[in-house]
Amino acid sequence: PEITADSIRQAVKDENVQFLRLVFTDINGIIKNVEVPVDQLEKVLANKIMFDGSSIDGFVRIEESDMLLYPDLSTWLVFPWGSEHGRVAQLICDVHNPDGTPFAGDPRNNLRRVLAEAKEAGYTTFNIGPEPEFFLFKLDEDDRPTLELNDKGGYFDFAPVDLGENTRRDIVLELEKMGFEVEASHHEVAPGQHEIDFKYAEAIHAADNIQTFKLVVKTIARQHGLHATFMPKPLAGINGSGMHINMSLFKGSDNAFFDPATDDQLSAESRHFLAGLLTHARALTAINNPTVNSYKRLVPGYEAPTYVAWSGRNRSPLIRVPQSRGLSTRLEMRSVDPTANPYLAIAAILAAGMDGLNNKLTPPAPVHRNIYKMTPEELKANHITDLPSTLHNALKALAGDEVVIDALGSHLYQSFVDSKRMEWDGYRQSVSKWERDQYLELY
Ligand code: ADP
Ligand code: MG
Ligand code: MG
Ligand code: MG
Ligand code: MG
Repeated sequence: PEITADSIRQAVKDENVQFLRLVFTDINGIIKNVEVPVDQLEKVLANKIMFDGSSIDGFVRIEESDMLLYPDLSTWLVFPWGSEHGRVAQLICDVHNPDGTPFAGDPRNNLRRVLAEAKEAGYTTFNIGPEPEFFLFKLDEDDRPTLELNDKGGYFDFAPVDLGENTRRDIVLELEKMGFEVEASHHEVAPGQHEIDFKYAEAIHAADNIQTFKLVVKTIARQHGLHATFMPKPLAGINGSGMHINMSLFKGSDNAFFDPATDDQLSAESRHFLAGLLTHARALTAINNPTVNSYKRLVPGYEAPTYVAWSGRNRSPLIRVPQSRGLSTRLEMRSVDPTANPYLAIAAILAAGMDGLNNKLTPPAPVHRNIYKMTPEELKANHITDLPSTLHNALKALAGDEVVIDALGSHLYQSFVDSKRMEWDGYRQSVSKWERDQYLELY
């Protein structure tokens, strides 16, 4: 049933809601919230809640600081866990300027803008199915996260080796109470690592779901005395955490990537879209893998992609075309990690694919061989380039790609680059244990 102002007023009474969390996302993908007591409900529904935008990374300068929150009523959610003070409900909001116009620096508004361009081209829906992975670490006596994993399980292992199973099961139960359709949850390849897959949704709601998902995972893990992290590579020597993005374009109820008449049942549109993703892959990396640590995951040997290539057969390339056809025909981008701001990542991915469609780009031949065993000559002959190896190189690639820059718009691009350059400089100026181990005694 459609959620209206009236149904929210009713739910507040029926479910003893005492606090409203008004949520939005900053440039770095961090969830921000303004929490108001329930007696502010009418003000919330009238789009009149203000906050200081200058205190949020990548928003505005001090002199233009007051911003408005416009709640998206369809995101209404009462958290299933209670508190002695009553329950807490969440509304995901768009950020607007004081004059009521949508704020260009809000990643959610920006995704809506890029989606509107695809709609104009006849694609009514961009569906996104994410596969977020995370680690569970033990807490110390002071409730601070340690680097001690909570189990020694491996891929699809069962208890008793998988001690994280109870925690994961609880997370799944809570998610389902909140209306998530969880399709699968399993232990991942690395010890202490888990994946929970929920059903694909239209782009804005998929991004909203990713943000809520991370909050729920962290909250329930804490209740079990564990710390959940979406950091891409917390431990060297074992697999890192990714967030594969499965995607398809729909025209009404038809999947535009499916065409029963072709040999492999993939439409010409899916091929153009795939070609767009590959063409812009290097610039997309800055958005999809936006932290210094992201690049510690994108190395050979740990199931993460390092080359720009695609395949319908094996799981190592940047883009995989899963075997499913019909409504599930999709492309899977395997580089993305959970530190990506989902609104920015989905907007950039869509713009890259649409560029392929608009210009009818053709993808190179698929690569079914093990890319990691190819010689530099073979890589060159197969037109296989590599992904940027550092955040610095990814930002350089981004700076040269107008399509991906346009997908962010100038405000978001500038705040993104400012924030990431600062991050890179901080990293560049730090001296690590690895360096001391290598050089302190040798030289
Ligand atoms: P993998 O085989 O890569 O582990 P999973 O089964 O874990 O894949 O996850 C597949 C994801 O793809 C799920 O989130 C699912 O809802 C999503 N998905 C299925 N069909 C589509 C589609 N047409 N468009 C986008 N996502 C889809
Ligand atoms: Mg999976
Ligand atoms: Mg699977
Ligand atoms: Mg996985
Ligand atoms: Mg996958």
